[in-house]
Amino acid sequence: KAKERGKSQSSRFELTMNVVIQRRVALERNLRQALTAGALVMHYQPQLELESSTLCGFEALVRWQVDGSYIPTPEFIHVAEETGLIKELDHYVIEQVFMQVAAWLKAGYDPGEVAINVSTYSLQDYSIVAHLESALARHGIPPARIKLEVTEGLLMKNVDIAQRIMQALRAVGIKWSIDDFGTGYSALSYLRRYPFQQLKIDKAFVDDVHINIENASMTRAIISMAHSLGIAVVAEGVETVEQLSFLLQAGCEQIQGYYYSPPLPAASCTQLLANDGGLRLPEVLLHRNPR
Ligand code: C2E
Ligand code: MG
Ligand code: MG
Ligand code: MG
Repeated sequence: KAKERGKSQSSRFELTMNVVIQRRVALERNLRQALTAGALVMHYQPQLELESSTLCGFEALVRWQVDGSYIPTPEFIHVAEETGLIKELDHYVIEQVFMQVAAWLKAGYDPGEVAINVSTYSLQDYSIVAHLESALARHGIPPARIKLEVTEGLLMKNVDIAQRIMQALRAVGIKWSIDDFGTGYSALSYLRRYPFQQLKIDKAFVDDVHINIENASMTRAIISMAHSLGIAVVAEGVETVEQLSFLLQAGCEQIQGYYYSPPLPAASCTQLLANDGGLRLPEVLLHRNPR
């Protein structure tokens, strides 16, 4: 009896595995086609500078819609990383974002600084330096407009090449932001080893920062550590006025999250830019700002 049960469990397991593998294989094939066909689209999430209460930039986030619904971005990014498609995807994203930024600048809008997520895999191949330099020149984009976001991951594994790539692009004028800070191995030494100008506090801290004493003190510590190294801080995934209020008091410079705006299609961002950034902080919060 037990043997039978074991057998049916293992075949159920195999069935599930088959479904997972088939989805993977299909995703890889379709992703390859989507990249060639230009079917991936960029959305942009506005970022708010707290002191001035103004729109100060955007984070570009890639979107892939199939038959009317979106494939979760982390899922296909993962597939791209595992299959080596990630380099192509990062290049594609850079091209899309540069086109958009050039269009905004040409139309007389000020999009602030625009952040692009690059996979840490792309920081293992020095060719990204020349690629970015020529793309900036081709689109006529001032390098200071562009910020690249990376999470720790592979940075730890091959310190030397990542360092050289980051320093070369920093010398060109591109900025660096460390994403999802606080979730991985991130340490003080880490921030000093690489040329970061910005640190993004992970949403996991932000979620309950106003009610969880440990997360509150971690967040304060991260902010003051960043500031002592001359690194600006942005909080991601800010959804409520309570979170915002805490972050403002703690000296965080910028926020990003549903409280201000979800990621939007480019056309909606253009409207926001035409509308001077839309939302302002509630007066009551501004008056409580200790700075
Ligand atoms: P990330 O860079 O940390 O991006 C933040 C994620 O949080 C985004 O998910 C964004 O849509 C979501 N988000 C923003 N505000 C809120 C909020 O207030 N509440 C909640 N619940 N979520 C919020 P998304 O777009 O699914 O991206 C997930 C991850 O995939 C990104 O994490 C990034 O690591 C990666 N990724 C996204 N776009 C790209 C890209 O163009 N290239 C590469 N290489 N990776 C990308
Ligand atoms: Mg990011
Ligand atoms: Mg993040
Ligand atoms: Mg993330």
